Amino acid sequence: MHTLSIYEARERLLEKKFSSTELTQCFLDRIRQYSHLNAFITLSEEQALESARKSDERIARGFSTGALDGIPLAIKDLFLTKGVRTTAGSKMLYNFIPPFESTVSQKLLDAGAVFLGKTNMDEFAMGSANITSYYGNVINPWSCGDKKLVPGGSSGGSAAAVAGHLCTAAIGSDTGGSVRQPAAFSGIVGLKPTYGRCSRYGMVAFGSSLDQAGPMTKTVRDAAIFLRVISGHDPKDSTSSRKPVPDFESFVGKTVEKIKIGLPKEYFLEGMSSEIEDAWQKGVDIMRDAGTEIVEISLPHAKYALPAYYIISPAEASANLARYDGLRYGFRAAGAKSLLEMYEKTREEGFGEEVKRRILVGTYVLSAGYYDAYYTKALQVRQLIKQDFREAFKQVDIIMTPTTPSSAFAIGEEPQDPVSMYLNDVLTVTANIAELPGISVPIGLDKLNRPLGLQFLAPQFREDLLIQNGYILEQNANFPTLKEII
Ligand code: GLN
Repeated sequence: MHTLSIYEARERLLEKKFSSTELTQCFLDRIRQYSHLNAFITLSEEQALESARKSDERIARGFSTGALDGIPLAIKDLFLTKGVRTTAGSKMLYNFIPPFESTVSQKLLDAGAVFLGKTNMDEFAMGSANITSYYGNVINPWSCGDKKLVPGGSSGGSAAAVAGHLCTAAIGSDTGGSVRQPAAFSGIVGLKPTYGRCSRYGMVAFGSSLDQAGPMTKTVRDAAIFLRVISGHDPKDSTSSRKPVPDFESFVGKTVEKIKIGLPKEYFLEGMSSEIEDAWQKGVDIMRDAGTEIVEISLPHAKYALPAYYIISPAEASANLARYDGLRYGFRAAGAKSLLEMYEKTREEGFGEEVKRRILVGTYVLSAGYYDAYYTKALQVRQLIKQDFREAFKQVDIIMTPTTPSSAFAIGEEPQDPVSMYLNDVLTVTANIAELPGISVPIGLDKLNRPLGLQFLAPQFREDLLIQNGYILEQNANFPTLKEII
């Protein structure tokens, strides 16, 4: 029962083939059995069993209406969960117990979901390999032999939990690729909605103009079911959209005939592995056979997306992270002799190296002498990139690219300098910069049996196209289910 999708588990729960309590217990046992994956920071076992019991009662009485009733989920430790510790992967919040619930997690609870616990992540969502977490790195369940692979980041714990069947589905967040990149590395589906589709209220903020919550699931259909639950306007987030939320699941199985798919020529990266190109070609063949038309397009400014992202996101992060001062909540360093010293020691001891690097870069690009040269310039580039996509979507309905320039790397073999690590995001950040929705769908395994993913990008608020096309790709990719975790 642990390998079932949301859709399948929901059917069986309603048919009373098993109870939510049994399903929840099965996952809690597996989380313990595979604790070496380090996918969770905090387990909420008691709450989980209590929610499962309530769901079983609703189902027994025939009152079950929620789309996720009785479904055990894993929650990235970036969503505030009332009464359950939320760390954002940082020492800074090692003892933080939120007094309120994030909108997205509340919507999941309202739909009847069971929360198993909070998943590991890169500190404050900064990273691409889940190696910056204060709570240790996460191991990709696809690891084989003696090499331990990274699951990608920053939603690495959520990805590992879904891939290793430690939950039915999980929630992640994507500022520059953190849902899609770990989904690709871990052989699962990851969907980043359009900026504004989901409320950011109660998510620990990283880059506020880029952050979006997103489903991490076993199937494209599950992503559709999940997305509908978490979408919608929220008065508590002024950037959340009032656009109506379609029934995304109704786009599952819809024909893609006559859809035009664009392949951006700038995404054929120099030095990209031939296996990634082959995977891309496999996707092209599948989609062409399904009746779509494949067109080469150009996104002339796409190459500036990564540098722009690494100015805009640290700038916003440096402002967002100013609140961790040791006074209001979380960690406070001991032994300071003055207020200023307390601030300094708290931030010195509470933040990890990558987070400090981002705060330094962000503060620098916002400083009086450099603001125009870096920050304003990056915002101008952002407009040009948006313009590129507007032009492209006049020619095609949707864009298809690889999700990542490589497959998962082994722990200890990760790029050592920060810039090489940042290159992992080169294919995903554009969607955040342009506020577009994107989905990563598993396409196959490389020679070393490591998962590869392909990404679709659609115009704003056209997640329906991601589901429609993603489903066809998934159905024809024959991606294997993970059998064994070592
Ligand atoms: N890897 C990217 C970064 O480190 C993206 C992170 C994210 O999407 N949260 O900034």
